[in-house]
Amino acid sequence: MTNSARPSRAILNFAHRCAMKCEWCYVPFGDSSVQESVVAKVVERIAELGFTRLTFGGGDPFQYQFIANTLELAKKLGLFVHVDTHGLGLSETDETLALLKSTVDLLGLPLDGSSAAIHEEMRQSPGHYARTMQKLAWLSDFRSHLKLNTIVSQFNINNLPALANVVCSLKPSRWSIYQYWPVGPASRVERRHALTESAFLEAADRLREAILFDDIALEVNSAESRRNTYPIIHHDAKVFVHAAHPENTFVHVGSIFDDHVMDRIRTTCIEDRPAAIERYGSQ
Ligand code: SF4
Repeated sequence: MTNSARPSRAILNFAHRCAMKCEWCYVPFGDSSVQESVVAKVVERIAELGFTRLTFGGGDPFQYQFIANTLELAKKLGLFVHVDTHGLGLSETDETLALLKSTVDLLGLPLDGSSAAIHEEMRQSPGHYARTMQKLAWLSDFRSHLKLNTIVSQFNINNLPALANVVCSLKPSRWSIYQYWPVGPASRVERRHALTESAFLEAADRLREAILFDDIALEVNSAESRRNTYPIIHHDAKVFVHAAHPENTFVHVGSIFDDHVMDRIRTTCIEDRPAAIERYGSQ
């Protein structure tokens, strides 16, 4: 049976490798190497299937020199182009800034703590906090398209108020906070990071009460609110959705090029959640 509401967003992950090793990452790395021509066909197929929003995600899209061509293609196809990046591959050049301005509608960077110690303990990546701050300073002219992403777990939840103050000083257009979700490979670290939905939502409520976010949109994403709201497509065309059983796993439903792939996606995927839809405006 298919759902009457169809998903409008797809996630395209480069599941070959990532330069970072975040222990709660949900991407099952190790797929075959990435080929530009296949990625281009996947993007074309995503648009052909009627998706209007495309999130490019980890491993990092900017680790590939051809990504400029891919982003230009996605934009030309009329997609809302959202890119999540750890920032390490973002070269601080006029050329990169021009590419972002002409092709990227929303650029997400991670920030998981108010200090280097907390952020880097979350990301297992020494030096990443300073490099992120450097990228954010360089992106000052792109703030209206900038989103900061924070994974919230039992490890950093008490740091949220201090982190909120740092976020306010950085002035992105949006701050997305995500409850740690032990889905796929991220389940390995459930004991260290598990956080109940009520603890997460209460912390978000306290933030709203205590902090004046001015023009920054605070987006609160519990784990359950994300379930079944998008298909995940790997760079080699494999399509995954959240599995009904066992819970917190992914199920492979075929190739994005299969004739009836949309029917299979729609057996589980519904429309995106309201908090995420706000990111994309009317598109
Ligand atoms: S930077 Fe992103 S894609 Fe890479 S390991 Fe961390 S969460 Fe996963």
